[in-house]
Amino acid sequence: MSQKANDPSIKSWISYDDKTDFPIQNLPFGVIKFTDTDYHFASIIGDYVIDLSRLSDLGFLDGLDIPESIYTSPYLNDLIALGKKTTSKLRDRLSDICNADIDYKNASAAREQFLKPVNQVELSCPVRVGDYTDFYSSKEHATNVGTMFRDPDNALLPNWLHLPVGYHGRASSIVVTGTDIYRPKGQTLPQGADSPVYGPCKLLDFELEMAFVVGKSNPLGHPISIEEAEDHIFGMVLFNDWSARDIQKWEYVPLGPFGAKNFASTISPWVVTLEALEPFRLKGPEQSPEVLPYLKSNGEHNFDIELFVDIETPGGSVQQVCHSNFKYMYWSMAQQLTHHSVTGCNMQVGDMCASGTISGPDKNSFGSMLEISWKGTQPVDMPDGTQRKFIMDGDTVKMRGYGEKDGVRIGFGPCDGKILPAIE
Ligand code: MN
Repeated sequence: MSQKANDPSIKSWISYDDKTDFPIQNLPFGVIKFTDTDYHFASIIGDYVIDLSRLSDLGFLDGLDIPESIYTSPYLNDLIALGKKTTSKLRDRLSDICNADIDYKNASAAREQFLKPVNQVELSCPVRVGDYTDFYSSKEHATNVGTMFRDPDNALLPNWLHLPVGYHGRASSIVVTGTDIYRPKGQTLPQGADSPVYGPCKLLDFELEMAFVVGKSNPLGHPISIEEAEDHIFGMVLFNDWSARDIQKWEYVPLGPFGAKNFASTISPWVVTLEALEPFRLKGPEQSPEVLPYLKSNGEHNFDIELFVDIETPGGSVQQVCHSNFKYMYWSMAQQLTHHSVTGCNMQVGDMCASGTISGPDKNSFGSMLEISWKGTQPVDMPDGTQRKFIMDGDTVKMRGYGEKDGVRIGFGPCDGKILPAIE
């Protein structure tokens, strides 16, 4: 695919801070919502949203073999389904339009007609997620959880080093940043009790994850090979897999998480293309024992993406609780997608596959409160003097992420969710 738009020397006639998530080298895709029936596809540079429907009306997107009507769909799925050759050409065109040296068709003169300050628009969920799968692919996270709940000497279950463990999650409750989340209710088994009780979750947690969006389907019965896998990945978002630990502990045997994970997952609003992330490729951790041939791939299939989690209290006190990196993933996205479809499972455009909690080797890189507070035994001090073992009502969890190279930062924008008290 074209990586022309990635050139770090390209400057835009739109000015922005050099620490923005959205320089001209990013150009991710999202959707602006005007009303319940009025949506426009969009991209973003700095603090300005680029309205693709307006650009199309003005003739700036001619000759791309993309039907004009597509730009007013509520979700990006139909655009993504046109294939990376097409979406890549669209991204290159956006780069030419905003490039100070090219200023395609004198677009800058029409800026008022297609640029809007990002704080003046509502961003909606960019893809219609048909199916959502959550993996468990950070060795550090799986080791921490295994150590806490089972046996420090056998923290990883026997399958873990041989396949990317995952479960099929709930797609309907995937929401975009800024959507408030009600504290879930359910069954828990109090310490020492013989029978469960019903009520609001007491151990509400976040999970720092990233997710990829499937960009190309495979027919039922026809697996995606490891060589083809990245061609089936359109792009990525930040992903908070909210988790109710007390509900999870009681319900998860033997089929895995259910209600503990189905009430909400928060994503960032822009799908950053795999092309834009190319500069951040690196090799993943060494895999030992050797994986089976269908999962084997040489080369660089991990990505160096810095990740951060802040907790903001209702009073506005903010504490960073995690600084991790996507590069720690033991299983790559290519391996996850290959394994997911090896049975013949038909993946569809817009399906979302989340990485699993991304924990690193150090305590400050743990990607969930379960690990950060070590099951609640080591509370985190907040600047306002309060402490957190898990997430309280009124708290906002804020995730951020970016890669940075040659003075260019490619980021994802906010992935924020505020917890409201459980509904009575
Ligand atoms: Mn998860």
